[in-house]
Amino acid sequence: DQQIVDHARRINGDTDTEALEKMIPSTPSPLSWSPSSWRSKPIKQVVSYSNPVALESSLAQLSTLPPIVTPTEIIKLKHSLRDVALGKAFLLQGGDCAELFSYCEDSSIDSKIKLLLQMSLVLIWGINKPVVRIARMAGQYAKPRSSPMEVINWEEVPSFRGDILNGYDPAHREPDPSRLVSAYFHSAATSNYVRAQLASGIADLHNPLDWGLGHVKEEAIKEKYSRIVNSIRDSLRFMHTIGADTAGALHTVDLFTSHEGLVLDYEQNLTRHMKHPSTYTASPRSTSDGKGWYNTSAHFLWIGDRTRDLDGAHVEYFRGIENPIGIKVGPSMQNDELVRLLDIVNPDKEIGKVTLITRYGEDKVEKLLGGHIEAVKGSGHTVVWQCDPMHGNTKPTALAFKTRHFTSILSEVSSALTIHKQHGSFLGGVHLELTGDAVTECLGGSEGLVEEDLSLNYTTYCDPRLNEKQALELAFLVAGFFRG
Ligand code: PEP
Ligand code: MN
Repeated sequence: DQQIVDHARRINGDTDTEALEKMIPSTPSPLSWSPSSWRSKPIKQVVSYSNPVALESSLAQLSTLPPIVTPTEIIKLKHSLRDVALGKAFLLQGGDCAELFSYCEDSSIDSKIKLLLQMSLVLIWGINKPVVRIARMAGQYAKPRSSPMEVINWEEVPSFRGDILNGYDPAHREPDPSRLVSAYFHSAATSNYVRAQLASGIADLHNPLDWGLGHVKEEAIKEKYSRIVNSIRDSLRFMHTIGADTAGALHTVDLFTSHEGLVLDYEQNLTRHMKHPSTYTASPRSTSDGKGWYNTSAHFLWIGDRTRDLDGAHVEYFRGIENPIGIKVGPSMQNDELVRLLDIVNPDKEIGKVTLITRYGEDKVEKLLGGHIEAVKGSGHTVVWQCDPMHGNTKPTALAFKTRHFTSILSEVSSALTIHKQHGSFLGGVHLELTGDAVTECLGGSEGLVEEDLSLNYTTYCDPRLNEKQALELAFLVAGFFRG
């Protein structure tokens, strides 16, 4: 019957669910969900293309391209996130705010893999639990924007919405449907390179890692970090000596991919009806033929804070897929709204399915997080609580750069940790915007970046990211909170 579905889809352009259901009465979609059922709901951050024929042709091409990730990998991550939700592991997620197609290049991918690996080692050392790694990479090409217009070089132009929709160059701000297909190929090429590098030993812990602590100005701090690095090195050497890695456990690690599921045209056409991996029990969302709908563009997708309306298109799309999902939880989220949202996307209360990514700001976390924790507790849902200390702490500077102060970022993580403890809950992970390059976008950290330094290497196309040193330092400090 997949063939019939495909045929119906071709005839209907996959936009008319009703007609599709009429043609295949034997396979009604579960709870009348289908990969395109979001089209009947109100949508935020909508994209209007001026060339519908070109759009249809891009979408048709996407719908035939092979999956970038597989159900086996997706379910493996969901099970790892179950461990995080139950307090048996910690989640590290990080990468660019806006990934550009031009970042699909070996050195910037390598530096991000290495940074996430090093941060995860530090966190394992501090928390004494396995760390699940998810990169905001290989598909983080779409940006929600607060305003449809922005000013570039004193001229008002349509806002940059990410490489998947339009170009940063003010001359290319018109949404171009061929970018949807380019997004697929850049995502696939990035994923391919990540997989190849992992398989070839980029994360081989027998190789010495360059921890580069030279920038740390304060001797006491430098010494503290060196002690941690030495302790990690000793443990690795010891494991190697006693042969604890005979199964090749130190040779490579898992690194999953993620992006905001914002452009539903793209997500829909990479959503495929596939068999569940036989090694795991079937999902509560399975259709009668024992299959499920997998978003094969990334292992993990999240709903942004601007598109999480209960009755909106994004929530509708997300409730039907098998992938583990994130939901950004900002200051405007009401306690009862959060519970209703969980009931919609995860009615079976599957553990590991939902990660709540809280992002209030250092001055608001105190007031809001406790209420959200209590509401979720009362609902019977078990979620991963992840702190995004970036998005509530963005500030403009006098020179019009958007920035974030390292101490504000650290302060929100630290508050989240304490508040979870006070409520008998625990922080399961962090969600960071970072890059492996030496950018100057966030203030503070051991290098002591100040406002005047921002213009030295401010290269983000959206929000300010932690540079390699700041990101590693954050890992040292967060690990320290757990060690006490
Ligand atoms: C983001 O993660 O880049 C983002 C836009 O976040 P939020 O939806 O939380 O504002
Ligand atoms: Mn961002």
